[in-house]
Amino acid sequence: MPDNTSLIERVNHIYKRISYAAMRAGRSPEEVKLIAVSKHIPMTAIEQAIDVGLRHFGESYIQEAVKKIETSTNDQSATRLSWHLIGHLQRNKVRHAVGLFDVIHCLDSLELARDIDLYAARLGKVQRVLIQVKLADEHTKSGVDPEMVPALVDNIAALNHVRLEGLMTIPPYLDNPQEVRLYFRQLNQLRETIYGMGYKDLELSMGMSNDYEVAIEEGATMVRVGTAIFGQR
Ligand SMILES: *Cc1c(COP(=O)(O)O)cnc(C)c1O
Repeated sequence: MPDNTSLIERVNHIYKRISYAAMRAGRSPEEVKLIAVSKHIPMTAIEQAIDVGLRHFGESYIQEAVKKIETSTNDQSATRLSWHLIGHLQRNKVRHAVGLFDVIHCLDSLELARDIDLYAARLGKVQRVLIQVKLADEHTKSGVDPEMVPALVDNIAALNHVRLEGLMTIPPYLDNPQEVRLYFRQLNQLRETIYGMGYKDLELSMGMSNDYEVAIEEGATMVRVGTAIFGQR
């Protein structure tokens, strides 16, 4: 949609597309959570998004997220929001991340999982996490190789203060979203494998502004949409 539309029009348009994509796949639209990616977006625009009913927000950078999350939490009358960390998490930032985020989508090593477990224990919290899976051979991107995921899942299950809630991926950017489909399908197949190991109800965090409909057709339960909601960053 063009940038001169209002936020509510854009969000309604996205909800409609989410519904159609879900129905095409024989799924219920309620299975899909819209995460508004608010990185580089000022608090005023985030407040507008809250006003039109959005409750899940994704941030990539801890520094940037701190103020936004504190502002939204300090206001006692404010609606309860869920904050999702979707950017790479460095080990020296784990303490901050665990204090701030409801869900961490970018778990990419057992070491990181153990650090998260440690700080979550100190806060008396169980940190919800998703494993970021690297499906294409792009060494610029972080993520776990798919064949390493089953072992990582079992190791995470042994941690008392980390709860594995799903898998996440950032496929290569391709102009034609149809070409990304195979990556989404692979992540869904990996979820099936893990389901077979006894881990049920795992989320699939996949799909961004350019390809969320294809992701939903392939099983996404969380789509991370920035530009299509807020306009160009
Ligand atoms: C920025 C970002 C998004 C949102 O991308 P848009 O194309 O603006 O929708 C989603 N996921 C991750 C991991 C991102 O970094």
